[in-house]
Amino acid sequence: MTELDDILYRVTKPARYTGGEWNSILKDWDKTAIRIALSYPDLYEVGMSNLGLSIIYGLINAQPDILAERFYAPWPDMEAQMRARGSPLFSLESKRPLKNFDVIGFSLGYELTYTNVLNTLDLARIPVFASERNDSFPLVMAGGSCVLNPEPMADFIDFFVIGDGEEIALELLETLRDGKRHGYPKKELLRKLATLPGIYVPSLYHVEYDSHGLFKDITPMVTEASPGITRRIVSKLPPPPTRPVVPYIEVVHDRGAIEIQRGCSHGCRFCQAGNIYRPVRERPQEEIIQAIGELISSCGYNEFSLTSLSSCDYPHIDELVESIFQRYQSDKLILSLPSLRIDSFSVRLLKSLAAHKRTGLTFAPEAGSERLRQVINKAIPEDEILETAAAAFAHGWTGLKLYFMLGLPTETMDDVVAITSLVNKIGDQGRKARGRRPQIRVSLSTFVPKPHTPFQWVAQESETQLVAKHDLLKQGLHRKQVRLSWNDPKVSQLEAAMSRGDRRLGKVIHRAWKLGSTFDGWSEHFNHENWRHAFKESGLEPDFYARREPSLDEPLPWAHVDTGVTQAFLKREYQRALESKGTPDCRYEQCSSCGLQRWLTPCRQKHQALISDQPENSLSPG
Ligand code: SF4
Repeated sequence: MTELDDILYRVTKPARYTGGEWNSILKDWDKTAIRIALSYPDLYEVGMSNLGLSIIYGLINAQPDILAERFYAPWPDMEAQMRARGSPLFSLESKRPLKNFDVIGFSLGYELTYTNVLNTLDLARIPVFASERNDSFPLVMAGGSCVLNPEPMADFIDFFVIGDGEEIALELLETLRDGKRHGYPKKELLRKLATLPGIYVPSLYHVEYDSHGLFKDITPMVTEASPGITRRIVSKLPPPPTRPVVPYIEVVHDRGAIEIQRGCSHGCRFCQAGNIYRPVRERPQEEIIQAIGELISSCGYNEFSLTSLSSCDYPHIDELVESIFQRYQSDKLILSLPSLRIDSFSVRLLKSLAAHKRTGLTFAPEAGSERLRQVINKAIPEDEILETAAAAFAHGWTGLKLYFMLGLPTETMDDVVAITSLVNKIGDQGRKARGRRPQIRVSLSTFVPKPHTPFQWVAQESETQLVAKHDLLKQGLHRKQVRLSWNDPKVSQLEAAMSRGDRRLGKVIHRAWKLGSTFDGWSEHFNHENWRHAFKESGLEPDFYARREPSLDEPLPWAHVDTGVTQAFLKREYQRALESKGTPDCRYEQCSSCGLQRWLTPCRQKHQALISDQPENSLSPG
């Protein structure tokens, strides 16, 4: 019996750690020049559902001289066994200790996984601080949506990859090859990496704060480091992964996934993804249909998710859905479309989906009143929402899941009452259509001000305010037909602090981890006391980051990361929100000069058309 076998029979779900899954790739270690270990720093079941990581895994392994393997955060029972025996964390494919790899890469998609990054490095016996890792340790990199504000993790990560991984991967791998070939020491290699657009090496920058403790400036200390880091944007989506690793155990998204488009043009003002993944890039219909066929034969899936930030915006989505069902009739396909807008576009789509096997329907009105939906630029009239819900019930759905957000900017108690009234009306539609009570699940989240959005300057509401709103909502809902879930406002406060944090938060993350915090995104593991102590011992306040309203001209800790969307546009949008003014969807209507017209030809053309249509000087340059 190997040591791993001896551990595995003592832990829950050993298949989380065995590897060897269908389509996993095990290359010859000795014949590959560069070895990279990739992770989404959460439990296997969560990490295996991350499409971004699956894309990068396939992309790196397509290089004959480079291998990519995977690892995830061991659950506490596994961690206890590993620590008790002194067994270092290993990759799933070759079971080699992570310390033997050249590079360790984390995909950071949720701020509450940060302590897991530290914990996995520590379990791998790699120093958590970048400054303590000498040339004998792997380089540690991170990408994903969170790194658009990289500062809170700057103490732990050697370099960040900002933007679409597919766009930068080849240049990055070439620099790593070059580094290995010439045996560059870590410091020299990092300076070379810093010259690549989209790569941010935090140790090459100096951060200043003013006498009031406000962030003042971040400046490069070497010529290779650029004052601004530009987000890399892939103009045409590369082919989707069609041989992803198929897990042996049930994972969060247990189905094939195809990204049908990247980006979103609606411009919802609270939404970070909508801003940082601009512009919209669609995958051609035929490529999607063909990819489904390949996924059926390579993975055996019969359920597929057509992923996108807003699936029903995909041009002719109803046609696409029909074509998929027609092409793969015999396979008894199930299609799920996450993130549907609850508007008239969805009604047509519901007709296409209704004739086939169905999954649950999820809609995100986000706010209860038309006024507040106007503020967040998701101005769907109530009639349209009710019409969509009625269509869903008429087409046979017996329940709906609805997402709302509490604490949105300018929200009043009337807006909260409007949520209850809207949900109850939707319930009535269900009763009318089906003759009995529908099952409605309302999922409430708390507004978190996110960097690079028009609401990055907004303070998150206090816990007292949020609890009062939650109580009001609970009282107003028809309990028998509605199941309500809400995430702990303390968790949202931490998410807001990490989202808008500066480099000083590294101390807090480190201290919280030392106090025992891991898996902070899991309610049963979240330990508010640890975090309270960690902030206090670091001389910082979570409310300084989460619940303060910075002035519009205050320097922001993430402003050196240039997403392409300008601060001027975000300020304009914030102002329009306060005036309850909508901004059109730039895919179907005019360009709003978000800033990407400076970088991308299709945007430039659209912007040019706008300028030609406008009287002179009526637009600011973005
Ligand atoms: S530049 Fe114009 S068209 Fe391009 S993403 Fe921005 S608003 Fe849309």
